[in-house]
Amino acid sequence: MNWEPIRKSREDQVVPPHLLDYAEACATFSWESIRRELSGLPGGKGLNIAYEAVDRHADGARRDHLAIRWLGREGLVRDFTYGDLKALSNRFANVLRWLGVGAGDRVFALAGRIPELYIAALGTLKNRSVFAPLFSAFGPEPVAQRLMRGDAGILVTTKRLYTQKVAHLRERLPQLRYVLLTDAPDDADDGLLSLPRLMEAASEVFIIPPTDPEDMALLHFTSGTTGMPKGAIHVHNAVLMHYATAKYVLDLHPDDIFWCTADPGWVTGTSYGIIAPLTHGVTNIVDEADFDADRWYRILESQKVTVWYTAPTAIRRLMRLEIEPRKQYDLSSLRLVHSVGEPLNPEGVVWGQEALGLPIHDNWWQTETGGIMIANYAAMDIRPGSMGRPLPGIEAAIVRRIDGTGAQVVTAPNVEGDLALKPGWPSMFRGYLHDEERYRSCFVDGWYITGDLAMRDEDGYFWFVGRADDIIKTAGHMVGPFEVESAMMEHPAVAEVGVIGKPDPIIGELVKAFVTLKPGFEPGEKLRMELLGFGRTRLGSAVAPKEIEFEEHLPHTRSGKIMRRLLKARELGLPEGDLSTLEETR
Ligand code: ATP
Ligand code: MG
Repeated sequence: MNWEPIRKSREDQVVPPHLLDYAEACATFSWESIRRELSGLPGGKGLNIAYEAVDRHADGARRDHLAIRWLGREGLVRDFTYGDLKALSNRFANVLRWLGVGAGDRVFALAGRIPELYIAALGTLKNRSVFAPLFSAFGPEPVAQRLMRGDAGILVTTKRLYTQKVAHLRERLPQLRYVLLTDAPDDADDGLLSLPRLMEAASEVFIIPPTDPEDMALLHFTSGTTGMPKGAIHVHNAVLMHYATAKYVLDLHPDDIFWCTADPGWVTGTSYGIIAPLTHGVTNIVDEADFDADRWYRILESQKVTVWYTAPTAIRRLMRLEIEPRKQYDLSSLRLVHSVGEPLNPEGVVWGQEALGLPIHDNWWQTETGGIMIANYAAMDIRPGSMGRPLPGIEAAIVRRIDGTGAQVVTAPNVEGDLALKPGWPSMFRGYLHDEERYRSCFVDGWYITGDLAMRDEDGYFWFVGRADDIIKTAGHMVGPFEVESAMMEHPAVAEVGVIGKPDPIIGELVKAFVTLKPGFEPGEKLRMELLGFGRTRLGSAVAPKEIEFEEHLPHTRSGKIMRRLLKARELGLPEGDLSTLEETR
């Protein structure tokens, strides 16, 4: 099905968007001018993410503006102004300094979305130490692996998580000097300290030391969708990207109330759940609880969220419920909805238009890119199913690898190839932790090869085809799982689909779809035949699934992505590989 473009214009925007004319924005864009919109450390002492996110507002007119509103799982609400955040992050930075933690030292966090996590992140950056967040639902082994690989010297966590996941592995972590417990009133021993006690004793005054924009700031592990998670290194200069994308893509304005649903254990939850909104001095909502449709709609309503950043996995979960959000909730404050993390099926974009009264703006980026690279903008027409166009200042292209060595830009439109980016943007990763060779292998002929396949249409919109690892070669065709999944999603019974290539002696690989059904639909032979037929009508017999299997759940990463490699390994009876990021069945 060809989806009609969703027309967007300046007139239908409640607030005039920052990016009005894409061509002009691209022509006039420069990183220098973005840098000038930031403050820089006083006295020309460099650039520090936490200063741009907190102190420059706390020292100015937005001192008393609400920076973070924290919504506790049980209904408790805690508010932090920019002034509060400055004082608390200063205290945390002083705690680190007092413990002898310095520039470049790794400070890990293993916690749910509690206020201390946000304070620790900002205080760590102020101290020029490196903040490395871990997702709190990781099991003990993935935690230990990451702490070891990341040379963790400090860990901020809770009593419960420490006891469950770290205590018994402590002897394997000799470099872990201190564990700071956010909820322990007293120190347990010399290495297991009470964070509240340390915070209490620390001064509220902290002068951020000179920070080179190239100083390491963040260490993020990738989602592990395609294999063993990699540790991506980011520097303070990334704040230019956080700020620029929050301006041009998220379209933040001073009165906005922004909510990013991602957990800071993943790059989205740190770049956009902490840093980017704060660089604009807006109010950032943090919800401690996990996905719950009613709770989420009530947050949008009661907090009067204006800009919402979420993920396809959540959108698909909302889509399958029989809730009519606009009838049941007052969503009138909402003006923009964005999504990242996985391909957003056109069905999802259009669902937003109908159910929320707003289309969903898909954008594309990776842990490695540190910030949004390709996006749909507030004032730009949306082509459902497309990731949009590159951010001004970002050069993206489709390239063809030649004999596995060189890379050639494909200039013709609508040709599939490797999605590549011209290196040099401020938040580009500076390395994979302890894997220089892998890092170097990402760059070919002056391009960063993303590992995703895509195509670009005649108007410069990019369309996701699939991860290079997931592409299916069937009877001489290259088939991207996304195209097949999106088509199958159009069937009213289908809630979610994961598509893989299954080795076949005659056609190379055959397209196999794993399908979960919406409530009220029963798996069975009749529905299977109907779906096979539906696929053939939509996609043609060369591309349509030849096999369909009904599943109660598809395997997802903890960040919500369908793990096709696991569907495939299970189908073929092969080793399942790294499962540290596999979500428990939901
Ligand atoms: P790993 O690299 O460990 O296999 P991962 O690639 O899932 O895991 P992330 O960096 O969290 O780790 O995810 C980035 C990837 O997610 C992208 O390379 C792309 O495959 C996918 N992705 C993100 N946003 C989009 C989008 N809007 N459309 C399509 N794919 C997307
Ligand atoms: Mg990846």
